Amino acid sequence: MTTFKNFIGGQWVAPSTDAYFDNRNPANQDDLIGRFPASGVADVEAAVASALRGFERWKRTPAPARGDVLRRVGDLLASRKEELADIMTREMGKPLAETRGDVQEGIDTAYYAATEGRRLFGHTVPSELANKWAMSMRRPIGVCGLITPFNFPLAIPTWKAFPALLCGNSVILKPAEDVPHTATVLVEILLEAGLPPEVIQLVHGMGEVVGKALVEHPQVPVISFTGSTETGRFVGETCGRMHKRLSLEMGGKNAQIVLDDADLDLALDGVLWGAFGTTGQRCTATSRLIVQSGVHDALVARLAERAKALRLGDGRVAGTDVGPLVSEAAREKVERYIGIGKEQGATLVCGGERATGGALDKGFFFQPTIFSGVTAGSRLDQEEIFGPVLSVIRVESVEEAFAVNNGVRYGLSSAVYTGNVNVAFRALQDLDNGITYINAPTIGAEAHMPFGGVKETGNGHREGGWEVYEFYSETKVGYVDY
Ligand code: NAP
Repeated sequence: MTTFKNFIGGQWVAPSTDAYFDNRNPANQDDLIGRFPASGVADVEAAVASALRGFERWKRTPAPARGDVLRRVGDLLASRKEELADIMTREMGKPLAETRGDVQEGIDTAYYAATEGRRLFGHTVPSELANKWAMSMRRPIGVCGLITPFNFPLAIPTWKAFPALLCGNSVILKPAEDVPHTATVLVEILLEAGLPPEVIQLVHGMGEVVGKALVEHPQVPVISFTGSTETGRFVGETCGRMHKRLSLEMGGKNAQIVLDDADLDLALDGVLWGAFGTTGQRCTATSRLIVQSGVHDALVARLAERAKALRLGDGRVAGTDVGPLVSEAAREKVERYIGIGKEQGATLVCGGERATGGALDKGFFFQPTIFSGVTAGSRLDQEEIFGPVLSVIRVESVEEAFAVNNGVRYGLSSAVYTGNVNVAFRALQDLDNGITYINAPTIGAEAHMPFGGVKETGNGHREGGWEVYEFYSETKVGYVDY
């Protein structure tokens, strides 16, 4: 069994605590991936000291040269795509087809960041005065603390680390404790691509220790956090008190709306993979299906047949459609919501139980579950479950569908299936989400497009796209009299 290390001060080092945690395959608890550092506050202190030194050097490296390093990172990710996909599937369970997509997102993010190295634009602006130049420019900020979730073990760290590095900052990465191996390989690749060692630090460990220490550290002026709204609230309050620059990306309660004039085959495929892909553990997962009356019964009946036919199992085995939940705690949370749905009068259409028997007994499997007759405002309609549970809500009109979509505290993504172009454009205008898909599921992102949510999903910042470069850089203005 392998014992892994932190990367601090330009070296792979053991944690100051001498304590470790086990990382096991959620599809097979007998499969021990390795032991990872349960780091302490002293490790965070050492990482910050090193990152400050790294920053002094890296900020003076020209942005196009920083971009060249990230281009090599993209090449290396591409050359190790299968290996990384396998590591991720083993760590968190989603099938290989999905983890390959996760790596591809990292590759795209690297190549996009590389081009941005030649585009970190400022402006020259006409001055009010004669013989004066007025201009703005972009400067790096300092040490960025990046705290990431388990569900996109590679893509989300790359969404944060690559633009942070491109802008000239140094980085401390604290990955979710469920997926430390993927983060370790990412750091190896950054170093192999030529990133100076003290520019990146990797500190493994518990969120309440390592994550908290990063958030509270006065010499970490930038925090980018993706995770649950509950943890994000602590992060937000602390950063607000300390006047830190903060990007928050948190929970979702995303809906797919299917109107009477929709292409039902398309809508069926969309909701099936939106709801049950990644075992429902995507921030953009379709957890509500809002269906107009005319197509409701036909759609629910066909969907239940498709859901029951999904093949559950180890995501590394060919033919698996749906993997396990990430942990026993995640499975217990799903079970609690099955009870809540029944208590609140929803109808269980299919699923609702642990998936057991044979190899499934070794992992955290749960049957794809559909509740119909869910009422707007009920807990199934309002609360993020983060598992393979879809709540179907019947509506009579477009107006009602849009109101139900908007009637939650979250606002990440939404999808509308319709044949009416006017309704499609109204949806883009009227749905309170960071992303709206027309005739496509609630999931999916492109590296060069801003990603993020509104309301309690986020705090207005975006990952990816051109917008993220503004988050990781400071605007400075210069005036030159001549
Ligand atoms: P989580 O439990 O909130 O953990 C996220 C990260 O925060 C982990 O690295 C965790 O470390 C760390 N953490 C825990 N407590 C902390 C603390 N007190 N201070 C600082 N950091 C702390 O979330 P998760 O279960 O990994 O991910 C699922 C959630 O993420 C869902 O709510 C999902 O919607 C959301 N998500 C949102 C987006 C988006 O873009 N909006 C994308 C993906 C996921 P440990 O792992 O050690 O606990």
